[in-house]
Amino acid sequence: MDKIISIIRKGKLVAFCGAGISSESGIPTFRGKNGLWEKYDPYLFAAQDSFNNLLLTNPFSLRDFIVDIYKTILLAKPNHAHSSLAHLENAGLLAGIITQNIDNLHYEAGNKEVAEIHGNAYVFLCKECGHKTKKKKEEIEDFIYSIEKEDKKNKLTKELLSFTGICPRCNNRLESGVVFFGQELPSREIEKSYQYINRSLTMVCIGTSAEVYPAANLPYYAKEKGLKIININPTVNRLDEIADFSIHKKAVDFFKEIMAYLDANNYKNL
Ligand code: NAD
Repeated sequence: MDKIISIIRKGKLVAFCGAGISSESGIPTFRGKNGLWEKYDPYLFAAQDSFNNLLLTNPFSLRDFIVDIYKTILLAKPNHAHSSLAHLENAGLLAGIITQNIDNLHYEAGNKEVAEIHGNAYVFLCKECGHKTKKKKEEIEDFIYSIEKEDKKNKLTKELLSFTGICPRCNNRLESGVVFFGQELPSREIEKSYQYINRSLTMVCIGTSAEVYPAANLPYYAKEKGLKIININPTVNRLDEIADFSIHKKAVDFFKEIMAYLDANNYKNL
């Protein structure tokens, strides 16, 4: 931990985050015990074609999935690990966060430099003209409560279709800003990710199994560029192979220790 603290004090950090950082905010990881994929088949619910197919054939199962995901995300608040990353950015020690999460919690914690490589659950996009809009929590909440008890199939399909909304510029149907399996990652967010890595000397990987590609290539790219890799994860995982330091702790416990030390030493003035 002493070595890690001295690396963090030097700054030029980039964070690479996965579902694990948000698990202590009450959002389960997808693969773990009680994870979402134990309940819902990812090939049915997270691939665009089968998702669209379900919309017409079984909107009830799709509704249950959407309600489950959004209720969990809407309730979640940033935890100590999220807010520590915001402090590190404010103190000029963190160049940016590359996150695979769609939960918006890094922005809610106060980070400004965030690359959301798998999109954001509140963002909706027009694939025709590029228009992008971010819905308010209340709007999503109202929608979730309105579809929750709907028992008429056609009405439910219509309501689900109307959820994303219409592009105010070109009248096309907006699409979810979440990246589905098999879809390309958003180029702007990938560009930002490379910028953060290129400005950094250390990548801190937090709560990721690094099993989802192409996102999982980024720590390997960082390693090739000569960045030190710090891997924070309670479970042994494949990033341990390239990590200079592996800390098998929960993200919140790790940051409590680190931030207590940095606070005590007035890290803003380092
Ligand atoms: P993953 O589910 O594959 O792996 C999560 C990792 O977090 C595991 O290695 C686990 O050991 C670790 N972990 C669990 N609790 C932790 C804790 N308290 N502190 C630190 N680490 C902890 O997640 P992934 O690698 O991020 O990939 C899953 C994909 O699913 C991502 O692409 C992401 O888009 C999506 N996802 C997003 C959210 C979210 O937005 N919060 C939640 C689940 C899944």
